[in-house]
Amino acid sequence: MIPQGIPARQPCTWQDELASAIRDPVELAVRLDLDPAVLDCTPDAMAQFPLRVPRPYLARMRRGDAADPLLLQVLPTARELDQVPGYGSDPLREHAANPVPGLIHKYHGRVLLLASPACAIHCRYCFRRHFDYAANTPGRQQWHQALAYIRNDPSIAEVIYSGGDPLAASDTMLAWLTGQIEAIPQVRRLRIHTRLPVVIPARIDQALLHWLGSSRLGRTLVLHINHANEIDREVAAAVQRLRDCGVTVLNQSVLLAGINDCGERLVELSERLFSAGILPYYLHLLDPVAGAAHFAVTRERAIALHQGLLARLPGYLVPRLVQELQGHPHKLPLG
Ligand code: SF4
Repeated sequence: MIPQGIPARQPCTWQDELASAIRDPVELAVRLDLDPAVLDCTPDAMAQFPLRVPRPYLARMRRGDAADPLLLQVLPTARELDQVPGYGSDPLREHAANPVPGLIHKYHGRVLLLASPACAIHCRYCFRRHFDYAANTPGRQQWHQALAYIRNDPSIAEVIYSGGDPLAASDTMLAWLTGQIEAIPQVRRLRIHTRLPVVIPARIDQALLHWLGSSRLGRTLVLHINHANEIDREVAAAVQRLRDCGVTVLNQSVLLAGINDCGERLVELSERLFSAGILPYYLHLLDPVAGAAHFAVTRERAIALHQGLLARLPGYLVPRLVQELQGHPHKLPLG
């Protein structure tokens, strides 16, 4: 069941929502009826990776609860400053798979295009929180380099828009880039990895549906939702708009201590995803990125939680438990 949630907010364009995201921890606390002193919000952590919370996402947090699972995903805390062995700034060594600006080629037959360096929300556990976006934000001229790279490799059948959040880019730019990719005969599929339809559902508007709905490419959109409370009626309606124009909608989650490392919560997440028309796809072990060690769940516990899901849910509602290892040619299934 999708919760009714709080009353609908005034309609707003996604660009307005993006611009008005909360960046001030005191405002965040006040809007959640919390004493700012209760939030362990640390300026040094914010200096490394600023606070950013869009208002539609904020509206789904519980008032007066400093342990709300959505709040904990965005709150810059002192624990991010811990130096933990094994955790680094480029946990997947992506710089070694970055042959031209804006393009990452890690897997056979697929490339990632970093369509936007920006995100609507700053997730504290993000494995690209230290990524060198300055060297990976192509203008149109440099995009031609990435497009030539794809054209010259006949094995590339799928292009994945990534970021940042690729849907933070304008529809004009995305429509142009998609048109260029459609002109490359061997590319058959377009995948978009995004959190924007979750945190600002208004992003799925007519302008986006126009270029995405008319593409010749097989289209899949992979959302990123970690907790059932992230899904409300607006998110479900955005997903329906995507499905109506022929887009397959999947979800990937990260297993996060204190947020979703619990059998009940994971079952509820899969059920809520399905109710909203989204299929669970991956459940990731945390990538060891500096600043996120406090979110780690051990491999043994992850496997036990996954076994619990297999015991309780039909197979199509159980995401694949995977870990990404640097230099490995594919994600590693666990369990
Ligand atoms: S890239 Fe994705 S996970 Fe990382 S901060 Fe942006 S929205 Fe969050």
